[in-house]
Amino acid sequence: MMGTMAPGGGTSALSGGGGRLAATADGTLDLDALLRVCIHCGLCLSNCPTYLVTGDEADSPRGRLMVLGELERSAGVAAPVTAPSPLGSSSSEDAARLRVAGDSLVLREPLDRCLGCLHCETVCPSGVSYGALLDAARQELGPPPGFHARLVVWLVDHVLSRPRRLLPVARIGYKLAHGFLARLLPSSLRRLVGSVPARKPDRPPSLDLPEHGDVALLAGCAQQVYGSGVLPAVARLVEAVGLTPGLPPKQSCCGALSYHAGSVKTAKALARRLIDAMDGETTILVPSAGCSAHMRRYGELFADDPQYAEKAARVAAATVDVVEWLDRHSEALRFKADRRRIVYHPPCHHTHAQGIVDEPLRLLARVPDIELLELRDADRCCGSAGAYSMLHPELAEAIRAEKLERLAEGEPDLILTANPGCELFIESGIEAAGGSTPIRHLVEYLAERLD
Ligand code: SF4
Ligand code: SF4
Repeated sequence: MMGTMAPGGGTSALSGGGGRLAATADGTLDLDALLRVCIHCGLCLSNCPTYLVTGDEADSPRGRLMVLGELERSAGVAAPVTAPSPLGSSSSEDAARLRVAGDSLVLREPLDRCLGCLHCETVCPSGVSYGALLDAARQELGPPPGFHARLVVWLVDHVLSRPRRLLPVARIGYKLAHGFLARLLPSSLRRLVGSVPARKPDRPPSLDLPEHGDVALLAGCAQQVYGSGVLPAVARLVEAVGLTPGLPPKQSCCGALSYHAGSVKTAKALARRLIDAMDGETTILVPSAGCSAHMRRYGELFADDPQYAEKAARVAAATVDVVEWLDRHSEALRFKADRRRIVYHPPCHHTHAQGIVDEPLRLLARVPDIELLELRDADRCCGSAGAYSMLHPELAEAIRAEKLERLAEGEPDLILTANPGCELFIESGIEAAGGSTPIRHLVEYLAERLD
């Protein structure tokens, strides 16, 4: 027996599928119909990073879709659903049954091990809305079980998303990760310390900008501490275009990290604060692929919230990824020549979630003399995926190993990307392997090359 899911609420991410969703007459989404779109051709398997590492069908998109169907059936067996009832609210009976099925049958593990990179959705010839299905299940199943996962989700919700709290914790983490004390920690904490970025944390930048300008800048959360040069770089580039950057006060984290970790309540609380801070801005520039992808979906996330639906939709419509925006304004930008060999790693939240593919390459092509190296399997995930590299460090590192190999093939002098998670995770991998190739955010590089 299959249930249905309501758009908005618990299934708010359902637009990830690019509008190919099966909606029923009462506005709910038909899970059964969504799952039936899969024709089991298996074409997605060779593009799924987790399947490529483990070779296990359960770790493939097709296997996960079967698990979702099984979860649905288990929910039905546990207590048959006699009438369509939305799974959208935490009080819904369907939601509770699905959660019970997920917990008791240990079926959720393959879903927890999914990166959410959406590569499968891009390559699926049948148009399966995989992201929508995964998101819906994750929202209903909640954060992954187990002590380690709970600890990671707590850190994401209460520390990583808040730069002022993050800085002292990040400094302690850095010392632990780079000293001998980590060896004395219990294994659960040692595993966590193993996920601490190799980069030294920094004070959040202090910018002398008006609260409101021609465009609003998103300050971000962890990026302020681990990429303190990014925000000033965006401000410089906006000024180079001839516009005034503004920095609206009272901003918060966009909630993407919590949302993808299944912590929907915290994600929504953070998003509400950011929406309040940004409502009224006509252009919001976001220098992180993960954040821009998430903020563009605010409209759906709050579709069933009478107080926030309209302003969430306004903020979503005003959100622009900074790379896309710079590409639109590139005629106004002049860069100094650079003879270095450079390779660009495209984040999945650009390639697969927003269709931003050519824009960063077009921008880099404007730098005279640059040698832009080709990256094999460029559209494959690096393993970072929000909190994934902390939740599943072993699998994430195995996925990263292939990315590091590909990145090294052209012997680059510099690696660029446009998502802080990818940047830090790749950098840590390079350091762990004894390498020294630097990696930076694309906007920092472009701002430095301004002529
Ligand atoms: S490519 Fe699409 S239709 Fe084929 S198995 Fe994968 S999800 Fe199903
Ligand atoms: S989202 Fe990525 S990791 Fe998950 S099934 Fe699809 S390709 Fe595999």
